[in-house]
Amino acid sequence: MPARPARRGDYAAWGGTIRARHEVYRPQTIVMARAALAAATPPVLAYGCGRSYGDVCLNPDGTLIDCRQLDRFIAFDAATGILACEAGVQLGDILRVVCRPDRDGTAWFLPVLPGTRFVSVGGAIANDVHGKNHRQRGCFGNHVLSLEVARRDGSLATCSREQNQELFAATIGGLGLTGVIVTARLQLQRVPGTWLEAETVRLDNLTDFFAVSAEADTAWDYAAAWIDCLATGAALGRGIYSQARHQPGNAPPLAPPKLTIPITPPLSPLNRVSLRAFNSAYFHWHGRRQRHRSIVPYQRVLFPLDQLGGWNRLYGRQGFFQFQCVIPQDAEREAIADILGDIAASGDGSMLAVLKRFGDTRSPGLLSFPMPGTTLALDFPNRGPGTLNLLRRLEDIVVAAGGRLYPAKDATMRAETFRRGFHRLDEFLPHVDRGISSGFVRRMGLA
Ligand SMILES: Cc1cc2nc3c(=O)[nH]c(=O)nc-3n(C[C@H](O)[C@H](O)[C@H](O)COP(=O)(O)OP(=O)(O)OC[C@H]3O[C@@H](n4cnc5c(N)ncnc54)[C@H](O)[C@@H]3O)c2cc1C
Repeated sequence: MPARPARRGDYAAWGGTIRARHEVYRPQTIVMARAALAAATPPVLAYGCGRSYGDVCLNPDGTLIDCRQLDRFIAFDAATGILACEAGVQLGDILRVVCRPDRDGTAWFLPVLPGTRFVSVGGAIANDVHGKNHRQRGCFGNHVLSLEVARRDGSLATCSREQNQELFAATIGGLGLTGVIVTARLQLQRVPGTWLEAETVRLDNLTDFFAVSAEADTAWDYAAAWIDCLATGAALGRGIYSQARHQPGNAPPLAPPKLTIPITPPLSPLNRVSLRAFNSAYFHWHGRRQRHRSIVPYQRVLFPLDQLGGWNRLYGRQGFFQFQCVIPQDAEREAIADILGDIAASGDGSMLAVLKRFGDTRSPGLLSFPMPGTTLALDFPNRGPGTLNLLRRLEDIVVAAGGRLYPAKDATMRAETFRRGFHRLDEFLPHVDRGISSGFVRRMGLA
């Protein structure tokens, strides 16, 4: 079937700092996706749901193959928990359709979930996303059994740990550069139910974070800390640690966001004063008890931001930058303290500062972001050169500590930082499909 002609369209990434015009194909079937890939004017790139924050999902002045309509379930085996689906299926749809508890209360569940359910299977594979359970479950790619990748020469490669192993390893975490993933087979995990027993623990400083997270290693399925990144001195790194584990029973189904921000305000309500007030109030409200336990539906713990649709618009027309780094274990305490100290001194706070530990499960992906250590993720309103200078200083701390930045969240890292952080880049590059590229790739000088 010939490809429908491309249309022109504006696409933006989640951070709102990059918006660009593209030629766009919106294939409705795998055959149409393959035809579009062959017909498209290079450079070409697959697009999932645009939940990446920077230019990894954009291809300014090039072509996008928007995969959202490749959204069919192919097969599910309830005995083994193996799901086959097209790459545009969203993780939230899998949870809604497949992950419903059986009569005994137990359920098949996605083993790795990022902080939003509005992510496609193709996007989750291409960034090899992680969740709040990296120490137990590794990355999304650890649970991919096989995938089919359409290439620009018209071929369709099936890859797995046994077949086309090298292309499999390059495609997981491969930033969409090895071709368009059209289908995937995923191994789901069995959980006791879809309710979670959740516990919050007040952290009075960064030392508390490392103590509590060491204690929580095996007892809980999920763990992450919100950090008040404007606290200084003895309170540096204070925050609220959240941990949770599956409980029997059928939690209420996923619902659309309760509230949606309908427009982007010309001026963001998120400024230094409101961020400082928010951080302090959040810490004191949730930290009024040293520990607190409750039983909650899984979505409340795993996707807290999904309750407010279009929350990224709150950052206004200038958008925002996300910064996510991982620091290896031997340097984590000092480097994370330095980063938090620099942010607090700058006054450029973030409402959403999240600190998590990564475990040592290796992903098959050559360019996977996680490594054993601690990861910190923050959002910064875009205030121009001041914010860019702060991001540069934080990047320098990460590089000096032997860490790396997450391409899915990045809009500003230097090419040198990417090359130093991702040691298997040279092994990966031969698998890039000729004619596929992205804004990120060109910024990293890899075109
Ligand atoms: C609120 C929020 C919370 C988040 N939390 C986390 C988190 O906890 N952990 C985490 O790891 N990430 C997290 N993310 C980032 C997000 O999970 C990733 O950026 C994810 O890859 C986005 O998927 P997408 O479907 O939107 O893909 P896009 O952002 O559209 O694309 C991402 C990449 O995938 C490629 N791609 C997409 N579809 C295909 C395909 N069919 N074939 C080949 N390549 C393809 C694109 O070319 C691009 O390189 C979060 C994002 C948000 C907005």
